[in-house]
Amino acid sequence: MDELQDIWQRVFPNNINDLTGEIVRGFDSIGFSMHSHVPCSGIGSLEALENYKKEILWLKKHYQDQIKIFLGLEYDIYSDHGPEGYEYTIASVHCLKLNGICYDFDQKLEGTLQFLNSHFLGNGTAFARNYYETVASIPQYGSFDILGHFDLITKNNEKGNFLDVHDPVYLGYAKDAIHALKGKIPLFEVNTGCIGRGYRTTPYPQIELLKEFKACGFGAVITSDCHQKEFLDCNFDHARELLQSVGFDSVYVLTQNGFIPDLLI
Ligand SMILES: [Zn+2]
Repeated sequence: MDELQDIWQRVFPNNINDLTGEIVRGFDSIGFSMHSHVPCSGIGSLEALENYKKEILWLKKHYQDQIKIFLGLEYDIYSDHGPEGYEYTIASVHCLKLNGICYDFDQKLEGTLQFLNSHFLGNGTAFARNYYETVASIPQYGSFDILGHFDLITKNNEKGNFLDVHDPVYLGYAKDAIHALKGKIPLFEVNTGCIGRGYRTTPYPQIELLKEFKACGFGAVITSDCHQKEFLDCNFDHARELLQSVGFDSVYVLTQNGFIPDLLI
């Protein structure tokens, strides 16, 4: 087995066959962004994070002539460690603190509904308000490159299960968070991970919010948040079209000189 294939298989244990071919299909660089350790959600561990760092740095060096590999981190604000030591960072909110207790709301539909009913009496708008106020607090936790899956709470809501995402009250909470983050985080992601994993048919964020990010001067990156190599470039064309439709003429890509704009046309 090819050495890179062997390592890739350990990073993504569910992917077994023909991985090298997938990696090089059209990509000249790739960024990994493992989750930080979040005690209340059970995501990751400090030990796994250290192993991840070593593995990606080894890959980076060993394959430097074939593909550029970047060591990133998806940092949840309720992690028990800092976001330092990575080539790029994505800041995300997967949990909410209510009365001092941290809860992971980012689950399958049943789990999210249970959380909503237990803590917000089923009121999706109240849930959204708390979520976006928490998102607005991200800069208190450090400096980050990218704002992660901004409207994550809509992951299980494409059929309007608990929220009307076109309701001006809902949009107002989301836009308030965008305004609070303006000038504090340079980039936001158009994240297609929810499509690959079957939660939604369109990426985050929804189009009204894309327009707001544009109006507030944020740069855009396209990410697959894929968890599985099959979805490495899932719906990237769709994401590009959406960005162009609201006036973006470039997306930012990570290079050895940092993030630079890359024209969409
Ligand atoms: Zn995430």
